[in-house]
Amino acid sequence: MTSASLTTDENKVEISCQSCGSQLILDAHQLSTVCPYCGSPSVISRPPRQDIPTPAFVIGFQIDKQRAADLARQWLRRGKLFAPKDFKSAIPNLIQGIYLPVYLYGSTAQTLYTASIGENYTETETYTTRDANGKTVTRTRTVVKTEYRHLDGKHACYVMDVIVSASKGVSNSQFQAIEPYDLRAIRRYEPAMIAGWAAEEPSRSQANCFDLAREETRASIQRQLNQFMPGDSFRGLDFRINFTREFIDLALLPVWCFAVRYSEDKPPVQILVNGQTGQVAGNAPVSLGKVSMVVLAVVVGIALLIGLMILAQG
Ligand SMILES: [Zn+2]
Repeated sequence: MTSASLTTDENKVEISCQSCGSQLILDAHQLSTVCPYCGSPSVISRPPRQDIPTPAFVIGFQIDKQRAADLARQWLRRGKLFAPKDFKSAIPNLIQGIYLPVYLYGSTAQTLYTASIGENYTETETYTTRDANGKTVTRTRTVVKTEYRHLDGKHACYVMDVIVSASKGVSNSQFQAIEPYDLRAIRRYEPAMIAGWAAEEPSRSQANCFDLAREETRASIQRQLNQFMPGDSFRGLDFRINFTREFIDLALLPVWCFAVRYSEDKPPVQILVNGQTGQVAGNAPVSLGKVSMVVLAVVVGIALLIGLMILAQG
């Protein structure tokens, strides 16, 4: 799976973004002077690369340009508590639809875990207090206590559907925010399938993507273990995963990229729209003014509450 570049089409232009490091392949007529991921104008054309793996799979676009633009606009308007007002009313600027390079990861994960499992029980205890007349009296009450016991065990699962971004222009956490993709629509890659679209060669190393995929898998196994623990509560969950039969395949997935510029002195904000499902995500900027107002309100609220408690006791 090496030795061939993404396409051998002569009408393609390969460019490299000097700002975010993505490696783009555009149709000659689409030659763009801005990077679709970061909005930076510092893109330069570069000679074709020959040492890039060929994609194994592709999912086609289901969401058209107009629909993607509508979804991005709705996303901006929706209540973003801490976003500056200018951001919410900004117009998302479509850069383009792109086939994003990702790695599909799978493996068999065998996990050994240990934890302390808590079982609750109730106990009746006696205590002394003063009654309304100021006399010391002894009363009883029921309290919940927890007894812990050690548990260790094995957990095994197939990991099938972990997808990580292979583009430096889209961080894996940004990409996770527009997941999932419906993998039932996946097809074997043919260059004709992406004709007329921009695509990118992986700009992140396969080793780096392996690490990201294992990290995602680890987080998902941790969630499964958390749900799976018996008893009323647990603590000290510790686990070690042994990955076997790992595979990683390069695929191209459809994404619409938008850049929102809401202030002259701020870099544009990237908004991504899943080109198959329409899921939208982006990192809405945080207005410091709004945050300090909320923090102030909370602090004042707590101070009032403490004041009331002191008054009630006194
Ligand atoms: Zn860029």
